[in-house]
Parts: sequence; C-alpha cells; structure tokens
Amino acid sequence: MQLKGKTVVVTGGGRGIGRDIAKTFAASGANIAVLDLNAADLEQTCKDCAAAGVTARHYLVNVTKEAQISTALDRIVAEFGSLDVIVNNAGIVKDGLLVKVKDGEIVGKMGLDQWQAVIDVNLTGVFLCAREAAERMIRLGNGGVIINISSISRYGNAGQTNYVAAKAGVAAMAETWAKELARYGIRTGSIAPGYTRTDILAAMRPEVLEKMTSMVPLRRLAEASEIAHTAVFIAENDFFTGRCIDVDGGLRL
Ligand code: NAD
Repeated sequence: MQLKGKTVVVTGGGRGIGRDIAKTFAASGANIAVLDLNAADLEQTCKDCAAAGVTARHYLVNVTKEAQISTALDRIVAEFGSLDVIVNNAGIVKDGLLVKVKDGEIVGKMGLDQWQAVIDVNLTGVFLCAREAAERMIRLGNGGVIINISSISRYGNAGQTNYVAAKAGVAAMAETWAKELARYGIRTGSIAPGYTRTDILAAMRPEVLEKMTSMVPLRRLAEASEIAHTAVFIAENDFFTGRCIDVDGGLRL
C-alpha cells in the first residue's frame, strides 16, 4: 500500500508506542485518526502528526465500548472519506500470579476483575475495533490493512496470565482475519514488541529495568519508533498478511 493520502486509525494513540505509530505513518504522508481516553494526550499526538503536513484528528473512545467505536469510525469515514489502515494498539497491564504462595500459605490469586479488565481492553477491544473497521473497509471497497499490537509475552510470561491470553489471542485473530478478509483486499498482521521505552516501563524501579535490559541480547530497550517502523512495513508490503513479527532485540522470555 502506498501510504500518501491514506487514512490510518491508531487506537491508544495518545501516548507511547501508539503516538509513535501515528507520527511514523504521518511522516509517510498518511492522514491520521487517533483514538484514546485522554483529550490532552490526543491533542499532542495530533499536533506532532500535523507537523508532517497531514490531517490529524482525534476521537475520545474507550475501545471496550462498542457504540463509541462504531460512532467514531462512522465519523472518521465521513470526515476523511476513507479508512485504509487500523492499528489496534490500546492496551493495559494488571499483572499478578495465578496463585500466590508465601511460606507455604496461599496469600492471593489473580482476581476475576483483574483478568476481565485486561481481556476487555487488550482482546475484546481489538476484536471490536477490527470488526467495525473491516465492515467499513468492505463497504468502501478499497481493501485495507488491520494491524494488532501483540507482545513478547504471547509465548507465556509468569505473572501475566490475563495479558498473555490477550496478546496470544490478538496474534491468532490476525491469522484468522488474513484468511477471512483476503477476498476483500484486506491484509492483516501483528507485531510482538519486546520491552519498549514507554510510560509502562518508566514506572518500574531502575534496578528492575536494569535486570530486564540485561536479558535482552541487544542489551537495550526498543524505542517506540522501532515498533512503529514495523507497522509501516506491514502496511506497505502488499505480500504480507496474517503473521506476527517479533521485535524484541532477540529476547525470549
Ligand atoms: P502506554 O500505556 O504508554 O499507552 C497505551 C495507550 O492506550 C494509552 O494512551 C492509554 O490511554 C490507551 N488506552 C488504554 N486503555 C484504553 C481504552 N480502554 N480505550 C482507549 N485507549 C486506551 O503503553 P505502550 O507501552 O505504548 O503500549 C502500547 C501497546 O504496546 C499496548 O498494547 C501494549 O500492551 C503493547 N506492548 C508494550 C510493550 C512495552 O514494553 N511498552 C511491550 C509489548 C507490547
């Protein structure tokens, strides 16, 4: 896909990896629609994108709310006149052990609320946004690209049952949609980032971050721009569909 003048939707585009994905597509000449929960963050992303000379608009959307997604995508199609790429990036973590034991006693377990909150945003949110985008792409008849942001954790990671289930799920959904949607000219893909320098990691203690980085063969965190570069690759490469690209500095958890 040639990105100049295309319409690219980025969920969770107010901060972190999502903001860099929006900026990188904007630098390739695409017009940008960013969805997120916080207006100030969204405005900053739009300002950054507009600096590249493209149109950038923002929409306050909670990706767990079906009606909000559907309304926003209708507005995007009306305001931009097209919908070519969606990057399902919005995500949260609520880590905890499945069962926590201390001194031989069970002292906790992953709560159903903790499980459900992550599944709602990271799995159901991706399902809803992709479904609504695919419906509009099919109606518009110009094909499109759906990209899900997975994680290195999709292979299994202690303390992240909820997150792992969602991140394995979004990669599997991209494989499934590649088979279902190719006939409409819609390609898919997912990206599994390793540890990436964003607010999620900035909140960690320096010694924990240091230990995590030391396990990465490339001995550093990913920059959000490196994950964004992969999203642009998937969008631009017309023979790519379905697969998940690991961008993790060589780390296996
Ligand atoms: P971040 O917290 O910096 O940004 C996430 C964005 O998603 C925020 O702007 C947040 O407001 C938005 N968001 C959260 N819930 C939402 C909802 N219900 N509706 C709409 N927007 C919502 O995180 P990040 O590090 O930039 O992560 C982006 C994606 O990359 C996530 O899916 C995350 O799981 C994934 N990821 C991150 C890393 C990492 O090391 N940072 C590694 C692997 C995968």
